[in-house]
Amino acid sequence: MRELSIYIHIPFCVRKCLYCDFLSFPVSEERDAGKIESYVNLLKREIEEQAVRYRDHRVISVFWGGGTPSLLKTEAIAGIMETLYGSYHMAADAEITIEANPGTVTPDRMQGYITAGINRISIGLQSADDEELARIGRIHDYRMFLETYGLARAAGFRNINIDLMAALPGQSVASYRNTLERAAALEPEHISAYSLILEEGTHLYERQEDYRFPTEEEDRQMYLLTEAYLSSRGYHRYEISNYALDGYECRHNKVYWQRGDYVGFGLGAASMAGNVRWSNPADFGAYEAYIAGMRHGDVRTVCHEERQEYKEETGSFQEQQILTKKEQMEEFMFLGLRLMCGVSRTEFAAQFGWQIEDVYGDVLSRLYRQELLVRASDRIRLTARGIDVSNYVMAEFLLDP
Ligand code: SF4
Repeated sequence: MRELSIYIHIPFCVRKCLYCDFLSFPVSEERDAGKIESYVNLLKREIEEQAVRYRDHRVISVFWGGGTPSLLKTEAIAGIMETLYGSYHMAADAEITIEANPGTVTPDRMQGYITAGINRISIGLQSADDEELARIGRIHDYRMFLETYGLARAAGFRNINIDLMAALPGQSVASYRNTLERAAALEPEHISAYSLILEEGTHLYERQEDYRFPTEEEDRQMYLLTEAYLSSRGYHRYEISNYALDGYECRHNKVYWQRGDYVGFGLGAASMAGNVRWSNPADFGAYEAYIAGMRHGDVRTVCHEERQEYKEETGSFQEQQILTKKEQMEEFMFLGLRLMCGVSRTEFAAQFGWQIEDVYGDVLSRLYRQELLVRASDRIRLTARGIDVSNYVMAEFLLDP
């Protein structure tokens, strides 16, 4: 049986954070209860209808992302989980993660996640400094995060991720260190630490002159500090921005980096199977029409040309892209090299029918000479210097058209 990962998108948040360009919309749990409920019903329908395409797959991970999945009521989460278990071959040890934001989770909800079969929780802290949190528009302070973390442990979660952010407005290296120390002191099984990227259209991007951002040098110090400090606390870096205690690497995210099959359900959710990527409509009306037009067993990704947009008379659609072999090889390299274990030469040959050196011989030789990549038996991976300039290294694997 092929392995499959499932992503479930919940596009609702209490309010929009000032740096956020994810597909998410502010809602009020009370005022928008009807809208949330009908979205949950659409999701259940989509999950059920699509199951026929994955009869020969075994689900190894599920990830509830958003948005803020913890905004959903326990019954809604339980209902969707039941639909999943009733429609797919779920592996007995499937990793099932939910993203939760402090300020949205009650003890009942936390217990409800465990009862529904969710076994991993990812909590968005971002910073342990309340002023930094306020400056980026988070709805919570550090105390609320601690409460949420405590609730998760009390409910029985034995696999917790904490999300952190560096390069925030007004953040110093010392305050970032304090955030790292506080997070590690809680002994979560996993820590993700990303640098803030200013995305066009967000409040922080538009008003960046009004804020003092860390200098390039400070940003670099935070970046280096993350690895140095977390490794001293027993966390190994397994991906450029992700750290875990032994045995707790995120199985779901590794599927993305290793180009495994995954299907996304919900508004704008992205999927990939073999050489095809597609995504759901990102507009509520279009998503509703897409679900309404969905027929049992209707495989909606057939197309004959690259980058064709598939439309139906119903007005429903999915955007899809059939990747050329060149694009697949590029992805194999620049996604796989994000992992500290790197890429496998055997795997490359098995997938593409070429030795990696036949395609990338010159690039590899140059990057070995520059000590940015190293080869150890079957695997090719970034060196410490290579991790530092990973964007440059990845760009080297783009092939000429
Ligand atoms: S909670 Fe997450 S998804 Fe929601 S607005 Fe903030 S950053 Fe965006």
